[in-house]
Amino acid sequence: MKKTFPKILIAGPCSAESEAQVMTTATSLARHGITIFRAGIWKPRTRPGNFEGVGIDGLPWLQRVQRELGMKVIIEVGTPHHVEEALRAGIDMVWIGARTSANPFAVQAVAEALRGTDIPVLVKNPINPDPELWLGTLERFERQGITRMAAVLRGFSCYEKSIYRNPPLWDIALELRRRRPELPFICDPSHICGRRDLIEGVCLQAIDYGFDGLMIESHCNPDAAWSDAAQQLTPDALSTILSALPSPPYSPL
Ligand code: PEP
Ligand code: MN
Repeated sequence: MKKTFPKILIAGPCSAESEAQVMTTATSLARHGITIFRAGIWKPRTRPGNFEGVGIDGLPWLQRVQRELGMKVIIEVGTPHHVEEALRAGIDMVWIGARTSANPFAVQAVAEALRGTDIPVLVKNPINPDPELWLGTLERFERQGITRMAAVLRGFSCYEKSIYRNPPLWDIALELRRRRPELPFICDPSHICGRRDLIEGVCLQAIDYGFDGLMIESHCNPDAAWSDAAQQLTPDALSTILSALPSPPYSPL
């Protein structure tokens, strides 16, 4: 039965940066009909020295989004400490990032920290193109009693030149879906594309491949974003793209 999640549409900034940025972005997204707000508060940066997230200071901002806008909120967790703080703050769902998904020790520790809860866990593909590793990450959560899960395709790291930041390698997601047909599949075109002009095309492909949802980065002032500036869309631009999708299977805008 493939109905753990409804058709899913998640949007919000790569990173929570300030209370004003979170509230301005979330208010516009809510106005466009988005009901699930994403924002990273701990950011797994490839190299040190970049903005690594506001940390727990961002949690009250997300609680405001829940309280004042009635949205559900989702953040990334990568350590048991992140899980504890997220649960204490009443965060609705969590995602596991691509770098964490590739590390069984980290996944096991996070999964054990979630034991006894049943909040939805979205598992991004590992950075390396290995459907077994992606599947194994999902299984580690299931073994700790998590039942509400989804797989998120965000593309795979590659050294060769590509128009994509992380080429989607759709076949890998299709292989995982063949093995786990009951799981909802979500596409994250933002991290696949790395640039905003390619996002609409990848959304269309995801729909063609029968994905169940989209997670897209949106920021009230994308060019000034502290992380992933080139791939973020304003809430209005996001809404324009979503409205143009053929018979969108997602929440109405
Ligand atoms: C993100 O969603 O902002 C993020 C860091 O994700 P990924 O793990 O796909 O890089
Ligand atoms: Mn990002």
